[in-house]
Formats: sequence, structure tokens, C-alpha cells
Amino acid sequence: MVTGIVQGVGFRPYLWRLAHSLRLCGAVWNQTSGVVVEVEGAAAAAAEFVARIRMEAPPLAIIESLSVADIPVQDSSRFSILPSVAAAGAFTCVPPDTAVCPECLGELSDPGDRRFGYPFINCTNCGPRYSIIRAVPYDRPLTTMAEFPMCPACEAEYKDPGDRRLDAQPNACPVCGPWLSFLDSAGRPEPRQPAAQVLARIRALLGAGSILAIKGLGGFHLCCDASNASAVALLRDRKRRSAKPFALMARDLAAIEALASVSSAERAALLSPRKPIVLLSPHSPAPLPPSVAPGGNLLGFFLPYTPLHALLFAQAPAEAPPPPVLVMTSGNLSEEPIVSGNEEAFERLAPIADAIVVHNRPIETRLDDSVVRVFEGRERLVRRARGYAPAPIALHTPAAELLACGADLKNAFCLTRGRHAILSQHIGDLENLETLRFFEETLEHMKRFFGLTPSAAAHDLHPGYLSTRYAREMSGLPPIPVQHHHAHIASCMADNGLDGSVLGVAFDGTGFGADDNLWGGEILGCDYSGFTRAAHLRYIVQSGGDTSVRKPWRMALSYLDDAFDGAPPLESLPLSSSFAPGDVSIALRMIRRRLNSVLSSSAGRLFDAVASLCGLRQAVTYEGQAAIELEAAAADGIDEAYPWDLGPPSPRVIDLRPTIRAIAADLAAGTPVPVVSARFHNTVASLTASVCRTLAGETGLKRVCLSGGTFQNHYLLTRAGAALRRSGLEVFLHSRVPANDGGLALGQALIASTRL
Ligand SMILES: [Zn+2]
Ligand SMILES: [Zn+2]
Repeated sequence: MVTGIVQGVGFRPYLWRLAHSLRLCGAVWNQTSGVVVEVEGAAAAAAEFVARIRMEAPPLAIIESLSVADIPVQDSSRFSILPSVAAAGAFTCVPPDTAVCPECLGELSDPGDRRFGYPFINCTNCGPRYSIIRAVPYDRPLTTMAEFPMCPACEAEYKDPGDRRLDAQPNACPVCGPWLSFLDSAGRPEPRQPAAQVLARIRALLGAGSILAIKGLGGFHLCCDASNASAVALLRDRKRRSAKPFALMARDLAAIEALASVSSAERAALLSPRKPIVLLSPHSPAPLPPSVAPGGNLLGFFLPYTPLHALLFAQAPAEAPPPPVLVMTSGNLSEEPIVSGNEEAFERLAPIADAIVVHNRPIETRLDDSVVRVFEGRERLVRRARGYAPAPIALHTPAAELLACGADLKNAFCLTRGRHAILSQHIGDLENLETLRFFEETLEHMKRFFGLTPSAAAHDLHPGYLSTRYAREMSGLPPIPVQHHHAHIASCMADNGLDGSVLGVAFDGTGFGADDNLWGGEILGCDYSGFTRAAHLRYIVQSGGDTSVRKPWRMALSYLDDAFDGAPPLESLPLSSSFAPGDVSIALRMIRRRLNSVLSSSAGRLFDAVASLCGLRQAVTYEGQAAIELEAAAADGIDEAYPWDLGPPSPRVIDLRPTIRAIAADLAAGTPVPVVSARFHNTVASLTASVCRTLAGETGLKRVCLSGGTFQNHYLLTRAGAALRRSGLEVFLHSRVPANDGGLALGQALIASTRL
């Protein structure tokens, strides 16, 4: 019996070939919990068979366990592949979707192949999986390919143990498989035309600067020529996305390397069968219209991962060369979930796209593209979705069977059982009914696929979160509240397989605190069962609720008012020129009277305030925008930092009033913003290390976990990590799950499981 990701990845045909080569008889079949194989023949051959499974397993297989037992001889005369057997209550691994493989790409571009130019080519080593599965075990009748009966040629491949497409559940060809079409002006698919004709029309439209909605693997993309500034600007306008960077799909690695620097680890991530979006530093001067990613210093690139994508970049004879880089952003309006159905696409995307391209293979489960960034040579998830979900995250310790609902921003939930944590794909911000429906629909899928019946629902402490309400009122399960930053650190511990107690630095935008204030600049001493708030950033008045999140200048005023004891030197600062004096005095009055305000120790708000002080950004349109621009502004080669103070224990208060006064003095003296930004980042890095050193001396804890969205700032991460290591502390960062709230559910699950 072999368990792990062993279904839908060519495991049975691989075993068939191996058995044949060793002259072994027997049988193999899929069971809900894994693959069962029986062999009989020479003892040495049987031993070699077992030994080679681990060493030579197919590229997409991940073997978690391989158990061997002797059974009575069956006297079989051949090796057969038997039908799948479903077992109730067993745990199965549903394979993630996988990018089109090199063999299929070869056939796609071979005019002599019967699948030449066919946009839905796939094989046992590649293609759709999670996105088309309706039930387990993974077999064609239980996928959205059920409605496409195979033609004799495909059927023969599907049944031929010597063929690459043996048991390839989505196997298809132009005769029997799905096809591509434009929607007409009434939202109906146009009558079928040859794929080559449809593709030529798509390429011509893209080349002419049109915006297209194109149905992909896990949903629709909105797509245009990335080098066409007016097309990009129009897409931004129609999608109501004013500043968030667009993802860029490039024809090949060379096209990416022409625009950005790519390290060997980044190259490996780009080329991996998961094909995530990889955040890269562009060459300067910026080689694309700035509207692709305004303000930031990074561009997100990925490579074609479906045959259809590959064909978007293929030049047919007598055609103009297609654009080598396309904007490929999720097909949705602003923050709604990605659109996956053809009719839904017509309703929602018709106002954004000049034309809509669909196909008739239904998408059962919606998936956005995953986003990664490489740090210290290692791939780190920023958004975990297609290609990664729903592969289980192996836990170092067994967990109870439960649901963790995550947070409301960048939501992903988590189901656990034994040593498996199944983190859902990125769901999005739970701020509208569509996203809540996506949450519920995905939860139902995953419970069914993995045969899970959670016994409790962990949730964030925030009483206003939709995820909290889901856990308390809708899940029907006993709720277990978990503090936000404790969950961040537990998530980082689980990501690194840590047990015991650690120091945890959780810096982020917002999390509901145990004292009902907003936390977000927290240093905890914790394990999975509980935490001590060892130190935190000094509380600052955050007035007007979320208005202060959208308008960093209000946080800047709050910081200034605190640092200068009610007499901030506003006239000497760059931010003063951006506002009517009336706005400033009203805001100051609100801060001083604490009208409609909360106390916040958020690191995210601190970065917002400094970005505003520097005159970089006074209003944001997406989470983290001001901090991203502040990081992008930081100069290299600056080592100085600003002063700050640390209060007495339990909890120690990190007082940045001296920092704010020094920044104001620097700015008034005309110090360049890049220098101020670097000095500020250095201050946060050095205070992180210094406070941890103090706490390590007090507690004996030498392991430090860094978590929270603020640690997606690589300038900060680099400096803080180095300073912590210089202090003799061991540093742990996220890699398998995001440091932002997208990884939170994993920590909630481990904490709740420990409490149970
Ligand atoms: Zn393939
Ligand atoms: Zn066929």
C-alpha cells in the first residue's frame, strides 16, 4: 500500500511498467486511501520492485508511506490494473492541478500529431485535477470530463498500459474533447470552429490592444498585451483596480529574463510543474508601462501552464508575432472571487472585456493563481492556490479532526486530521456574500473529498469577522477562539515543524487583541497551548475606524501628536502640503478626543504613518500599499538607525516616539526620502533583534519565529534576520504557507487541536 499523492499522477501505469520489466505478475488498484499493489514472482525481483518505487516514482507523486506485507500466492499470469475501490471514511489525497508537461507541449507543436494545436491536450503527468474533480476516488466519471465520452483512439490510449495516457482521466482530443469558442453578443458560445481559427482571432485581438476574458484552468483571466500602455490603463479602469500590480504571463523564460533578473531558485520556481506567479525585481529602467505595477518595485511573472496559454504565444504562418508578455489577472471585479462559469463570465466580465473566450469543460472548483517569492534561496508562498492546494501540509505532530476558519483578509481555511493539514486555496477577502459563498462551497468540497467531519471550528477573536460568525453561528460546531498573533506564530512553528516554546514576532496590519485593542506589533513567548504578550509597539490612537487604514496621513498625525506631546511641527513636513489645514485640524481633534477611535499597536499602521510622513502615500487602495512603496523607496547601503526606547517587563512597551521625532527632524532638514526609509527599516530590524535578545535573556528561549504580513518586506526580513542571527538566536520564517493572513488557519488549527 502506497499513500500520499499517488492518484492521478501516473502511479498505476508506472507500477505496471515496472512490474513488466521485472517479469512480475499481480495487480494494482486505487483505493480511497492510496494505491494497493500486489506482485508475485522471483523474490529478488519483488524486492527490487519495492525498492525502486521510492527511487523512481513518477514526477508528480509524493509518497508519504509505503507499507509491505506478505500475502498468499494468487497464481496470476499477468499484471493487471483493476478498477478503483472506494472505502468509506478513508483519507485520500486529491492531486493539485499541474502545468502542461514537455511531452504534451511537443505534441501540441507537432503538425503530424493528432493533437497538434489542440488547447486541451494532457496526459497522466499533467493537466487539470483538483479543478475538475467532483468526487473521489479520482476517476473520469467523477470529474467534469464525464460528459465527454472518449473516441476510440483516446480510449485505446487510456487503456494501454504502455501508453503515457493510461488512466489519464482528462484525456481528450479534437474529436472527443472540450473545445474553445467566443461568446456572441447574447452570451451564447458561437458555433464550433476549428481551434486554429479561434486562436488566430484571440491573438489578433490581443495584438490590436483588446482586453479579453479567457477561461482557464481554475477560472477566467482578464488578458491584454502588457506592453500596450493604453490597454493596460483601460483594463485597470474597467476592473476598478487602481494600483494593485497585475500578473504577467510571458512566452518563455527568455522573455522574463529580458525584463527582470532571475536567480537560479527563481528560475526553478518559474519552471516547476506548479507554475506559480514569481515576484521578481525588474531591470531598470522599467521595461514595461508603469501602469502594470504602479509604485511597487516588483513584478509578478509566470509561464504558460495550460496548452491554451502556450497557444496564445504561438505564431502561426502569415500571422504577426503575438505579444511576448501578457497581463493575466484574475477574472473578477475588484475583490470578488474569480469567475469560473460561462454564464457568470458573461454577466460579470462583459463590461470589462472586449470579448470573452470560453470552453465547455466545466470548472468544478475555482482556483486563483499562486504567488511565491524567493528569499534566502527558498520558495515562499505569498498566495497559495493553484498547483499547491489541496496538497496536504505534513505536520510534525498529529492534530485533531477540526476546521480552522482563518481570518477575513486573504482568507484560507484549514482542515486537519492526523499528520495532515489541508489548507484551502486562497479564498479572498470575506467582505461580500460572493466570497462567503466561495468559502462555503470550497469547504463542502474539501470535507467530501477528504472524508472529513471536523469536531470543532477554530476562529479569530475578532467579533466582527465573517469567519468568526461562520464558526460561531453557521458551522454547527463548537467554536474555539484563537488570538490572531498567537495563530500567526503557531502557523510559523507548524510551517517549520517546531514544538515547544518560541519567541514569536508577529508584525502585521491588524489583529484583535486579548485586551480588545487592535494588536499588530507583537512579540510573544508562546507554544501551541498559550502565549504571553512579552512586548508590543506603544499604543497609538487610530481614529475613524477603517478610515485611518485607507488614509495613512491620519495615522501619521496620530504618531506625530503622540511623539511631540500635542505640538507636532506640521509646517515643516512634506505631508502638510497635501491637505487642507481644515482636514488636518479636524483629524487632530478627533485623535485628541479619541472620537470613534481604538488603540492600535499595529506595525502595519506604523509603516503607513512613516510612508505618509515621507510624502510617499496619503491614501491607499489595497492592503499594504503604503508599506510596499516605503520599502521600494529604501536606499541601499545605509546602516544607521533611529533611536527608540524599551519599557519595563510584562509587557514591555516599544516606544517609537524618539524614532518619529528623528524622522521629522531628518525630513525637515531635507534628508532624501530613500535615506529616511532605509533608516526607518533599519530601526524596526534592530529593535526586533534587540527586544528578542532581551527576552531571550529573560526566558532562555533562543528560537525566533517571524510571521505576519509585515515580514513580506524583504528589506526588513533581511536586516532583522541577520541581526537576530548575530545575536545568537535561531530564526524561522514561513515557506509552505504565507506569512500573511493566508497562513493563519494553520496556526489556529494547531492551537485548537492542542486545546482539545
Ligand atoms: Zn502531459
Ligand atoms: Zn479523442
